[in-house]
Amino acid sequence: MTRFSFQIHATSGKARTGTIQMKRGEIRTPAFMPVGTAATVKAMKVEDVRRTGADIILGNTYHLMLRPGAERMARLGGLHAFMGWDRPILTDSGGYQVMSLSDLRKITEEGVTFASHLDGSRHMLSPERSMEIQRLLGSDIVMAFDECPRADQPRDVIARSMEMSMRWARRSRAGFDSGEEHAARSALFGIQQGALDEGLRQASADALRDIGFDGYAIGGLAVGEGQEAMFATLDFAPSQLPADRPRYLMGVGKPDDLVGAVERGVDMFDCVLPTRSGRNGQGFTWNGPINMRNARHAEDTGPLDPRCTCPVCAKYSRAYLHHLHKAGEMLGAMLLTEHNLSFYQQLMAGMRAAIAEDRFTAFAADFRRDYFNRE
Ligand SMILES: [Zn+2]
Repeated sequence: MTRFSFQIHATSGKARTGTIQMKRGEIRTPAFMPVGTAATVKAMKVEDVRRTGADIILGNTYHLMLRPGAERMARLGGLHAFMGWDRPILTDSGGYQVMSLSDLRKITEEGVTFASHLDGSRHMLSPERSMEIQRLLGSDIVMAFDECPRADQPRDVIARSMEMSMRWARRSRAGFDSGEEHAARSALFGIQQGALDEGLRQASADALRDIGFDGYAIGGLAVGEGQEAMFATLDFAPSQLPADRPRYLMGVGKPDDLVGAVERGVDMFDCVLPTRSGRNGQGFTWNGPINMRNARHAEDTGPLDPRCTCPVCAKYSRAYLHHLHKAGEMLGAMLLTEHNLSFYQQLMAGMRAAIAEDRFTAFAADFRRDYFNRE
């Protein structure tokens, strides 16, 4: 079995569909990766995650290094054995969550020192330590360690941050490659930075291409810039990256974000939205998001989404889901999470089929008409 390969089967405009082959299984693209922050996709058993159609899930280095700890995870046989998921896992580098969650950060050329948001204990992350932690977790797709600055900062601040991230990308490559047995069965992705600036994005893409990675992520988006600015950046950013490698847009997004990004040449996504929304009473449907707590569902005996093929929509009514969420029953979170993850995978499958038949433009137009209730 190959360590890592990416085959593009068909294109439709800039949209691509293909398959990533890895030792733990194949990943159909465009792919959506459910987020398993703390060694669990919240409210879901792993067998149910797989049943939604997920080929790969994401684990968070920052959370797992703090609890239960990377060395403990390695002693327990790695993340796959620990949580019972035997297919590919992508781990992030920890950099983004150090910036967003931890206290008392200090960033130097060496790396980042920070205080845990759990107990205030002091920790350090560097490119080398991030690679070591992701190796101890047993990650299949390892992400380079980078800094993700806010997009609204001055260009020179964004430029200096991007240049340091490119030096960290080279150190990440060296750290990953020193992993011997782990490096021989897993893959390393670099992360393009440069916020909304086309020139900086190009410089970042050139630097990453010089180092060489199995896949390339587009970082620094979906951090509050808005969909219009994100799409404007995606009009040029994906094509700056090698065409024969997977392109991964980190932390995205809403269903309409996914369709617009695939339309612009993105192959992989992750986001907490379907799981977090499922716990908060928001369900995604082909006719847009709906709030299950709304009183209009109280006596609705129909399914959450009549077009959805998931087990929740086959069996349970909107009235029951409404009741569970109003009563704060944990089954409400479980059922809505399962539906939302299934809906996201049905959306990805729909996009893959449309690209394979070269009718993606029509698929996207139909999707937007229904999702935004446009006639
Ligand atoms: Zn459903």
